[in-house]
Amino acid sequence: MIPKSVQKLIDEFSKLPGIGPKSAERLTFYLLRSPKGDIQDLGKAVLNLRENITNCSICCNISETDPCLICKDEKRDKTKICVVEESLDALALEKTHEYNGLYHILGGAIAPVEGIGPDELYIKELIERIKKNKDKLSEVILATNPNMEGEATAMYLSKLVKPFNNIKITRIARGLPVGSDLEYADEMTLLRAFEGRREY
Ligand code: ZN
Repeated sequence: MIPKSVQKLIDEFSKLPGIGPKSAERLTFYLLRSPKGDIQDLGKAVLNLRENITNCSICCNISETDPCLICKDEKRDKTKICVVEESLDALALEKTHEYNGLYHILGGAIAPVEGIGPDELYIKELIERIKKNKDKLSEVILATNPNMEGEATAMYLSKLVKPFNNIKITRIARGLPVGSDLEYADEMTLLRAFEGRREY
């Protein structure tokens, strides 16, 4: 009995992470009652989402410019690279205001069960980048998630970075809930984990 176009939007919302069928219905009916202009703005924002977005050729983060604003920023500490799985993890770390170095986005973690190996991630790009800047770099911080895939990825990366003798490899401290995602950690916990990073 729900009109097709309404059902269609409910179905699309249901595909999004964290949105169950009930929330999808609620969002759809909320939009049905919203002014037409608001709905058009939302639709346009969705359509344009991918239009101006590229990947930074240095850190692989999503960006509207290449290099991205962080890689371009002269005030950032270029001796440190913090390796994270996703853009949102870098964003979470930025919010702690603790870190002023650079980032590298892997685009996920090694997960053989899901068919994600090192080649599916921006690992080659990371190693090339380290090679190119090895005299400038003093620390590579492994800030992958504290779950099985994140730990396996950190282990894998540490072996690749180890041959660069002058570069310290650190891993963010435990204290983050095991099995969790960086992007969901509260700022205090993340700040403490970052400050307490240890040589890996
Ligand atoms: Zn960048």
